[in-house]
Amino acid sequence: MSDGRALAREFLEQQRQLGGDWVVLPEGPTPGWRPGSVGPPENAALTPGASPGNTQARPAREGSDLPPPGISYDPPGGDLFSNDPVPQAVSLDVIAQLVAGCTKCRLCEGRRHTVPGEGSAEARLVVVGEGPGRVEDETGRPFVGPAGELLTKILGAIELPRERVFICNVVKCRPPENRLPQFDEIAACVPYLFRQIEIVKPKAILAMGGTAAQTLLNTKQSLGALRNLVHRFRGVPLIVTYHPAALLRNPNWKKPTWDDVRIARRLID
Ligand code: SF4
Repeated sequence: MSDGRALAREFLEQQRQLGGDWVVLPEGPTPGWRPGSVGPPENAALTPGASPGNTQARPAREGSDLPPPGISYDPPGGDLFSNDPVPQAVSLDVIAQLVAGCTKCRLCEGRRHTVPGEGSAEARLVVVGEGPGRVEDETGRPFVGPAGELLTKILGAIELPRERVFICNVVKCRPPENRLPQFDEIAACVPYLFRQIEIVKPKAILAMGGTAAQTLLNTKQSLGALRNLVHRFRGVPLIVTYHPAALLRNPNWKKPTWDDVRIARRLID
């Protein structure tokens, strides 16, 4: 098997593990492909579920090297006339205080610290992960420990110091044993995240991992299907990429993650 086919097989296996759709390779060479060429035909951009040999490759948008548009999700805002303090919170500090006293879901029972998020209220980029892990629960800070160090390096690579970004998670308390947050826990917690994004008003959002992407886009599509598109959350461009913890388990995803964060960087410039 040639190196190219071995790489393609490895890539497709990764997509399958991520829940992407099966890809049926066309019989014969892909139109535009020449023996010895690498990558897709010159005038094609890989689309959702991007995979070598994907027969649904769409042309890139004319005059732009950004990926094509994806999902647009515009959840209703809070009712300003209700007694709910979250939609009326005027700052990130107020949100953090509300989170600190929150008992809206069962995740409050095992937490040591709430982890509301940290960073600049003027940030041009908001990074959203899944939920606090052990070190985050101990410190009350998001994305610390090995995955956090990797995120700091990723941001450094696009010349964004961590303190100029706002970093947070979908749920603000640690799920036991680092399990995935459950649907009702996400539903209880997500108003905090939505209000944080409203307050920061970023130029772009980077959703890291399937939980963040699916929550912010209100979809069940796999991470593999959501990458390589410019989605919108309340009009703000949103890019989907792998969670740093997943990158530590699978270094092969570093290259696609690098591609994704460079797109996010272009969106905030
Ligand atoms: S996870 Fe969110 S909704 Fe649940 S208790 Fe913590 S702050 Fe409240």
